[in-house]
Amino acid sequence: MKILSLIFLLSLMACSSEKAEEYDLIITNVNLIDGTGSEIRKGVNVYIKENTIESINSDRVEQKRNTIDGSNKYLIPGLFDSHVHISNYQDEFPKLIHFGVTSIFVPGGKIATNDYYSQMRDLSSQDSIPAPRIYYTSQIFTVEGKHPSYANSSGVWRNGENIYFISDTVQIEQLVKEVNLEPIQGIKLVIEDGVQPPFSERIEQNIINKINDEALKNETRVFAHISDNVELKMALDAGISNFVHFTGVDIDSLRDKRLLEQIREMNVSWVTTLMLDKSMIYPNHPEWVSSELLEIYDPENFKNLTNLLFKARAAESIQYYKDNYSFENPTLKEIIKFQVDDMKMLIEIGVNMVSGTDSGNPFILPGYSIHEEMQLLELGGMDRMKIIEMTTRNAAKMLNISDKLGTIEVGKLADFLLLNKNPLESISNTLSIHSVYKNGKKQTRITN
Ligand SMILES: [Zn+2]
Repeated sequence: MKILSLIFLLSLMACSSEKAEEYDLIITNVNLIDGTGSEIRKGVNVYIKENTIESINSDRVEQKRNTIDGSNKYLIPGLFDSHVHISNYQDEFPKLIHFGVTSIFVPGGKIATNDYYSQMRDLSSQDSIPAPRIYYTSQIFTVEGKHPSYANSSGVWRNGENIYFISDTVQIEQLVKEVNLEPIQGIKLVIEDGVQPPFSERIEQNIINKINDEALKNETRVFAHISDNVELKMALDAGISNFVHFTGVDIDSLRDKRLLEQIREMNVSWVTTLMLDKSMIYPNHPEWVSSELLEIYDPENFKNLTNLLFKARAAESIQYYKDNYSFENPTLKEIIKFQVDDMKMLIEIGVNMVSGTDSGNPFILPGYSIHEEMQLLELGGMDRMKIIEMTTRNAAKMLNISDKLGTIEVGKLADFLLLNKNPLESISNTLSIHSVYKNGKKQTRITN
């Protein structure tokens, strides 16, 4: 009898160990905000095997090893900053990860040579040091003498290395073919007549058309930098449907009916970069530089707060809103709200709005500023669930990687943040980060 029961017991154990799958990580009993826009789910377990989400359910969790108690915590997808300029990845990658940014999109920039891009890519595809996943465009296509900042071939902008000056339509066919040999998301095209008056002549429409046509022929697409409604129309007319900034655009639903129709018909993705507006008036608000920020970021980042040029720039920006929007004493909220109103209208007609900061510009910080961007969206009246979608799922959609990233769903890569507080109560709770996971692995944060 004794022997029999022992055999019975042993066979039971063998049976259960055969059945029980060993997961590499289970987050138990957590509040799940999965990024799809579905309502928050309570008491959920998320099972990870290797780097992938294997299962999501509310069953009793049998496994004791590799489990993290998610009680009273909130799980959201890893954040995307969809407009980042890196200048020093060794310094900036750990900061991005610290603030939960597990993927970035780099639309060209001063350091964006093929060599530097491939160094960043190598770093981002391993887990030994904290680094986000990196997606990027070609070097900037523009016309010499125009934006970025009246660029000429110089020490900063070197034609053929970090920028391409387009002089006619003939060269475009070969050039698009050439840049598309790199693993890019698309061509970065700057359509801007100048950052401030005196404006230079606008880029020719036939150049824009040709670049988009060649991009399509090579099965890629164009990401356009535009700075006003005229340039928006020029891009749309050429068939371009991805925009990397919102700044400068102002859509009036009555006045711009035809423009809106055109947008509705195209599959538009649009990055917000409200941080650019905030950064302009930063010198008027030294109180924005908190002691928490100074724990992570070099005070060098804020040295221009007292710089006369930057102070003048802030005054100019305020004057612009006074003149053009009849705000008596423009507050941050006023500067932001009319833009967020436009974004809400665009979302309604099907535009894929995506959060991005344009970090690398003065006062826009890699990592922290994506949280500021989300706070600006909230300040302007955007729904909090929408804000989370814009910073996760919508970014993955724009980058054509929705099959593996952007949401917490079975089959997706395990990139997510565990938060101590509910971001649906206040979006600033995205800063209450308990831990950051990329590829199912806990990432090292700066203050761990
Ligand atoms: Zn930029």
